[in-house]
Amino acid sequence: MNAVTESPWTADESPAASPAAAARPKIEREAHKLEKRLCREVGRAILDFNMIEEGDRVMVCMSGGKDSYTLLDILRKLQKRAPVNFSLIAVNLDQKQPGFPEHVLPDYFKSIGVDFHIENQDTYSVVKRVVPEGKTTCSLCSRLRRAILYRVADELGATKIALGHHRDDIVATLLLNLFYGGRMKGMPPKLVSDDGKHVVIRPLCYVPEKDTARWAQYQEFPIIPCNLCGSQDGLQRAAVNEMLREWDKKYPGRVESMLRAMGHVVTTHLLDPKLHDFKNARATGVADPAGDMAFDHEEFPVAPGLPAGMQVVQLG
Ligand code: SF4
Repeated sequence: MNAVTESPWTADESPAASPAAAARPKIEREAHKLEKRLCREVGRAILDFNMIEEGDRVMVCMSGGKDSYTLLDILRKLQKRAPVNFSLIAVNLDQKQPGFPEHVLPDYFKSIGVDFHIENQDTYSVVKRVVPEGKTTCSLCSRLRRAILYRVADELGATKIALGHHRDDIVATLLLNLFYGGRMKGMPPKLVSDDGKHVVIRPLCYVPEKDTARWAQYQEFPIIPCNLCGSQDGLQRAAVNEMLREWDKKYPGRVESMLRAMGHVVTTHLLDPKLHDFKNARATGVADPAGDMAFDHEEFPVAPGLPAGMQVVQLG
């Protein structure tokens, strides 16, 4: 990923450290640091991938989970200091799942004074009617949701659709594709939708899940539980998420390193002939100091969590 660039998107707007600041309770100081970190990482993502431009109307998709609340909150903070003018509209698709507390999000949006739209569409009944009992429901449900959100984006004049996926969602998707899909594929920070008409952005792509969880807790966002549909489809994802959480505890930096790796792809060292012309690789007779040292073991820094003196080396 790019180094932090000096820009209002990533600038530290907090006042210089003062005795008064140092005297604040620890919890407040920690929250202040977390807020700065969230703003910096979201700003960095916006800058790195040119996610938000002058005049954009950003539709923030709100599920009522900790990530979407954090996304909206941080975008509102950045809006005040961004080098471009953009507007925000929070959108919730009420899929009519049983027990969905439909007043929670509108009450929250009104309390913070943000533009919002609630789209009422009973996709829950459609999915229950169409998908045979015992079959997985997520694929139809998410297709319906996507189509509705694209239509709503058109109707609201939104130029960008912001989703609350964070760093750990992106790394988990990469691992799920590796484990079950046989392909190297994650989740893009910015993409053009399959109908070619919309730009979808993921401004939390550098943010670890634990930071959205902490921020949601500190801000006391009115979280809506995410298991109302009763789907069991997410079991593989849940297992990978659990594995990532374990790694993050045992080997700090590992998940971050995986995310960085997604931004440093060495296509000559994978096996995809569409990305590198292996067939026509020939000796050139010209030495290249940056070329490959095919017989050397690559050395890696000592992995946190390994006993002192042990190193990970590439085998073969
Ligand atoms: S978990 Fe439930 S709401 Fe989410 S995509 Fe699957 S069926 Fe739809």
